[in-house]
Amino acid sequence: MHADLPGKGMAVDELWGRFAKYRENDVDWRKGRAPLWVFYAGDDVLKVGSEAYTAFMSENGLARQAFPSLGRMEDEVIGMVLGLLGGGEQATGTMTSGGSESIFLAMKAARDWAAEQSGQGEKVNLVAPRTAHPAFNKAAHYLGMQVKRVPVGQDFRADVEVMRAAMDASTVMLVGSAPAFPHGVVDPIDALSGLATSEGCWLHVDACVGGMSLPFIRQLGYEVPAFDFHLEGVRSMSADLHKYGFTPKGASTVLFCDLETQSYQPFVFDDWPKGRYQTPNLSGTRPGGAIAGAWAVMNYLGEEGYREIQGRIMRLREQYVRGIERIGEFRIFGKPHAGIISFGGSAVDPHVVAEELAKTGWYPSLLAEPRGIHLMLNLAHESAVDEYLADLDDAVARISASSELRMQNVRDVTY
Ligand SMILES: *Cc1c(COP(=O)(O)O)cnc(C)c1O
Repeated sequence: MHADLPGKGMAVDELWGRFAKYRENDVDWRKGRAPLWVFYAGDDVLKVGSEAYTAFMSENGLARQAFPSLGRMEDEVIGMVLGLLGGGEQATGTMTSGGSESIFLAMKAARDWAAEQSGQGEKVNLVAPRTAHPAFNKAAHYLGMQVKRVPVGQDFRADVEVMRAAMDASTVMLVGSAPAFPHGVVDPIDALSGLATSEGCWLHVDACVGGMSLPFIRQLGYEVPAFDFHLEGVRSMSADLHKYGFTPKGASTVLFCDLETQSYQPFVFDDWPKGRYQTPNLSGTRPGGAIAGAWAVMNYLGEEGYREIQGRIMRLREQYVRGIERIGEFRIFGKPHAGIISFGGSAVDPHVVAEELAKTGWYPSLLAEPRGIHLMLNLAHESAVDEYLADLDDAVARISASSELRMQNVRDVTY
């Protein structure tokens, strides 16, 4: 049965009461029980983001002329991100609703660029490591493109020779991730850049996770491979703000090495009684709040603030890694470059472990290849790490002691 619009409006108190009730079974991310989805960097950051969001909640980012405030904030946000990612004077970009839209727009631009270059419009493909985000396939489906996904190396990084071998006359784009979501490792973007340059192919770097984290992790002295516009083959990048930029949701960026490259991004239609319609984005109306929220949080934190948060996340990562490697036969997959870790091992099935963790209030996130558990860290995990490791240890001990649990076969990857 579906809900009905109430005949008479509800009192505001009643609305808040309903919220509280509806929320009862939501994962308690404030206590670090969510493995990802929420990126917490402190109550002060939440407050800045939410107040900025509310202040521009009614304004529409579609109309930059009418709201020059939003146009200016968007330009400044793009400038700040480009500054972190080696964008030169010519580099440019647009804010979007999320990583999926950023990837969609970069692929649309690459497709239209290729069509103009060589008349290749039909059935063009991109070559991507298996670890690239599904958003590439989603966009390819909408855009009439194809994705050739190829195996990665033992270290879970893209294998450039395998990617080279998969290219054909219809390949318009190569994809690398910084880092890829499943194992949190950065692909060898410098080698991909060399390949793209020598083949005259478009290289997109998906830095949805790393765009706002890797520059600070590098400043802190950790090893971070080259991954951005400093490499000449990189034509476009996606960098989310609503992940490690800690901004309100609905904020990402798609970036281009120059204006000419970006010129293939917008959609234009001028056979409409209302007149010409042109948008750079997939969406028409764009929430002013997402733009103002991102602008405010980024300026509030500054380089120093982001560096401090990433330092805490790196220390958290070390705590998890040390703790996990002490339990059972668990090992970390690959050498994570940012705040994502995944782990598994042969002694017990990690997916059975995940089900046990779920019974003690942890919302687990599973990894399919290899079978494992996935974690994407934020500061809400600081108060949770010790308890998590203790519960993980208990879960493994319980499974090892119970032949019934050991035999359990988890039906499917559902988390
Ligand atoms: C999150 C993510 C995306 C998709 O971003 P959304 O904001 O969820 O649309 C794409 N690529 C990577 C590497 C991601 O982590």
